[in-house]
Amino acid sequence: MKRYVMALDQGTTSSRCILFDRSGREISKAQKEFRQYYPHSGWVEHNPLEIWSSQLSVAVEAMAMAGVTAADIAAIGITNQRETTIVWNRKTGQPVCNAIVWQCRRTADRIEQLRADGMAQTVRDKTGLVPDAYFSASKIAWILDHVDGARAMAEAGELAFGTVDTWLIWNLTRGRVHVTDRTNASRTMLYNIHDMCWDQGLLQYFQIPESMLPEVKPSSGLYGVTSAAELGGEIPIAGAAGDQQAALFGQCCFAPGEVKNTYGTGCFLLMNTGTKPIASQHGLVTTIAASTGEVEYALEGSVFVGGAAVQWLRDGLRMIQTAPQSETYATRVEDTGGVYLVPSFTGLGAPYWNPYARGTIVGLTRGCEKEHFIRAALESIIYQSSSLIRAMEEDSGEKMASLRVDGGASANDFMMQFQADISNADVIRPSCIETTALGAAYLAGIAVGYWKDTEDVQRNVRIDKVFHPQMNEKVRKQRLAGWDRAVRCTEFWANDRGEDLEEELPKAAPDDGCEKESLGAVPDDGYTD
Ligand code: ADP
Repeated sequence: MKRYVMALDQGTTSSRCILFDRSGREISKAQKEFRQYYPHSGWVEHNPLEIWSSQLSVAVEAMAMAGVTAADIAAIGITNQRETTIVWNRKTGQPVCNAIVWQCRRTADRIEQLRADGMAQTVRDKTGLVPDAYFSASKIAWILDHVDGARAMAEAGELAFGTVDTWLIWNLTRGRVHVTDRTNASRTMLYNIHDMCWDQGLLQYFQIPESMLPEVKPSSGLYGVTSAAELGGEIPIAGAAGDQQAALFGQCCFAPGEVKNTYGTGCFLLMNTGTKPIASQHGLVTTIAASTGEVEYALEGSVFVGGAAVQWLRDGLRMIQTAPQSETYATRVEDTGGVYLVPSFTGLGAPYWNPYARGTIVGLTRGCEKEHFIRAALESIIYQSSSLIRAMEEDSGEKMASLRVDGGASANDFMMQFQADISNADVIRPSCIETTALGAAYLAGIAVGYWKDTEDVQRNVRIDKVFHPQMNEKVRKQRLAGWDRAVRCTEFWANDRGEDLEEELPKAAPDDGCEKESLGAVPDDGYTD
């Protein structure tokens, strides 16, 4: 009997490996940070060989810590930072340049060009994405255009492209397998999420030869086995999903209307919408969700400044010394005394979309004390999340059934209770907050029969705490109306720029970390811990 499933969790700042047992319990965990490269302002790179070696070393370490060999591992599941782009030589396995990380803004102009070419709606219709430099398409095109000899080699079929999942699987199998899963494919901005194929029109538009692209497979299924040289035996690689989709799966959001929110530096909300892709009317992204059967979809939105607002209180304003202290202060007062903070430091994201917005505080009186201010900051994270939830409900016609939460700031009980109150729904916090890795493990484990199906893994759910709504309807409506009014103030400030500022602001904006056309669903990296 194989005892464990291995999850490889390849994130933006570190590579991690967790071994899980059948009950979803962590047996061992190893983690290694790797270097970030910032060669120019706004550029972010990783060395693909460091990604690979750090990932391999944590896998070996986690196995050693648990005292197991390859024979004890039923399967490997992979979850990864999404959109990050790697191009390598098929013969040598050597990358042609560093990985271009999702945060990298070097291709922002290319996306402006795409809009000017009238392609934005086409991209939206085919891929479900709001065109942005975050996604892989313009990054691959950049490599072909800027790395010496790359285009000729690509056209001769000598280069391979992959997101990080693909790169790891290629290396684990010593170049025998070149695949990706549907969730990762859906973040490249080249994959047609309705026809489930690489889109010929988009490939042509970006001048990317199809021969570079990996085969797209379901998120749960056998991709290949590890070469014995890597982990001491042939272990099936049987699951992969982008980090947010893996977390949705790890939170067991298997039914339409189920939503998870990850409260990290930014917040990432995904709602399962079942087998129907839903085109958002509110600037949300439509994406493929990880599933074990038919293709399923999700709506995705993000809050740019989530836990980053707490970091700002700590490091910028020096109002608190540690993030958890924010809860102590916030609960010393009954409410914010009518103060609302809109922390749109880098613009307003979905569902408002205003790149010129900046942070706004309204409702100050002489009675406003530090406690009220801190409380307003925590509440702002919840209001922003609830605006996304409202948008998802309107787009999907599904009332949110319940909200599953994870991420560092989900430890804050005050925030979670306020989320339940404002969204009028139960907020469920699981005991295992490693939902991303767990999702990858489940996808792989189900593929090899370690777990039978989604019902089987659902039995593993252990809840730390459920927050039930307690706020009365009238107060909820008042608070939400106050938030909406505060956002209108923010929008007014952004839009009423005055004649003399018209010239100045658009140019100044990129330096503030807010690109004019930056409609991406991620926090500005200036706010990353
Ligand atoms: P990331 O993966 O984006 O680095 P994490 O999931 O590690 O984020 O969460 C870290 C974020 O959560 C930080 O922005 C921090 O300020 C915030 N945070 C951590 N603990 C708390 C807490 N108890 N209350 C509020 N915010 C918190």
